[in-house]
Amino acid sequence: MAMDNKVERELFNEVMVPCYNPMEMIPVRGEGSRVWDQDNNEYIDFAGGIAVSCLGHCHPAMVNALNEQGNKIWHLSNVMTNEPALRLAKKLTEVSFGEKVFFANSGAEANEAALKLARRWAADVHGPEKSEIIAFKQGFHGRTFFTVTVGGQAAYSDGFGPKPGDVTHLPYNDIEALKAHISDRTCAIMMEPLQGEGGIVSPTDEFAQTVRELCDKHNALLIFDEVQTGNGRTGDFYAYQGLGVTPDILSTAKSLGGGFPIGAILTTTELAQHLKVGTHGSTYGGNPLACAVAEAVIDVVSSQETLEGVKHRETLFRQALTKLNDKYQIFSEIRGKGLLLGAALNDEWQGRARDVLVAAGEQGLMILVAGASVVRFTPSLVITEEEIEQGFARLDKALEGLVSKD
Ligand SMILES: *Cc1c(COP(=O)(O)O)cnc(C)c1O
Repeated sequence: MAMDNKVERELFNEVMVPCYNPMEMIPVRGEGSRVWDQDNNEYIDFAGGIAVSCLGHCHPAMVNALNEQGNKIWHLSNVMTNEPALRLAKKLTEVSFGEKVFFANSGAEANEAALKLARRWAADVHGPEKSEIIAFKQGFHGRTFFTVTVGGQAAYSDGFGPKPGDVTHLPYNDIEALKAHISDRTCAIMMEPLQGEGGIVSPTDEFAQTVRELCDKHNALLIFDEVQTGNGRTGDFYAYQGLGVTPDILSTAKSLGGGFPIGAILTTTELAQHLKVGTHGSTYGGNPLACAVAEAVIDVVSSQETLEGVKHRETLFRQALTKLNDKYQIFSEIRGKGLLLGAALNDEWQGRARDVLVAAGEQGLMILVAGASVVRFTPSLVITEEEIEQGFARLDKALEGLVSKD
């Protein structure tokens, strides 16, 4: 019976909108940082579902939370509040600068809420002239029309008709360009405190400080998109804590649910009051199942042991990558922070990140790319040393094959 019902990759082309081009294999089961496909082939997971599966697959804390809540109540809507949402919001305020929380279901929705809050605050407090959103080239903020327009790659927002207006894109890490452009008309600056999709690019300390200072000078809000950097990914609970620059609004998603869809914004009480009853909302936002899982995730991730473990694992990844590079000479730089790492390909290997990904997949290793020339690693924050070792042994084989083909 099960055999007769086997669904295959071909069915994707038949019944799915073709906005993705998924790999051939179909994973069916995961445990820790290992995944098995339909034919029971094993993969080591250095991708973590794009910085989502922060506790690996089927971590007991998440499975228990989901089962327990699944037998209590699944959904209420925001006509009522619920216990998991309240407990999760309280915990988020304890691990961050945030005093108030709004729940959404994804990173894009969290950013949409952040941008709408900033615009509403500016309209309420300063008037309609103060509407400019400054964001950065190569930045990524999601795929709703407002967030994709704020994102710094026009290719993603072109072709859908008129865009939301008054959005300016400046080069990341360019203090002079920002100084020259920002004005009292600027409503908010939105940035990732480490660009993920854009190629794993860290801000300089000076840039991060200057952004905050210029926002203060011009009465603009600073929005940190921590959808990818948040929830322990960089070794601090949120990346802003490691930068020493506190935003006014922070968006979080991806690792927040560890694989269950949830997003949120954190902000101050003063700003939160501008989203009064009826100004914004979401049917699923604050859903009890999602919040129960996220609460379990936060409990594990916010522990000193997990956060210090991220720094230790970063060292292991950097050492292993450096060793591979000594052998094959394909990277120009290993960059990023914590377990959000990028290996930038050198001149000879430009544009071939996808080849590395495919070769790794053939050896039983799941990795990611960030643009055409950066290989990206966003594994579970609790990946074991054994899984790391085996994963790099497979990457070694993959690179050996690629280099010998050349
Ligand atoms: C992934 C990502 C988003 C979008 O999140 P979705 O859950 O896919 O909507 C937004 N911002 C950043 C920085 C991201 O990495």
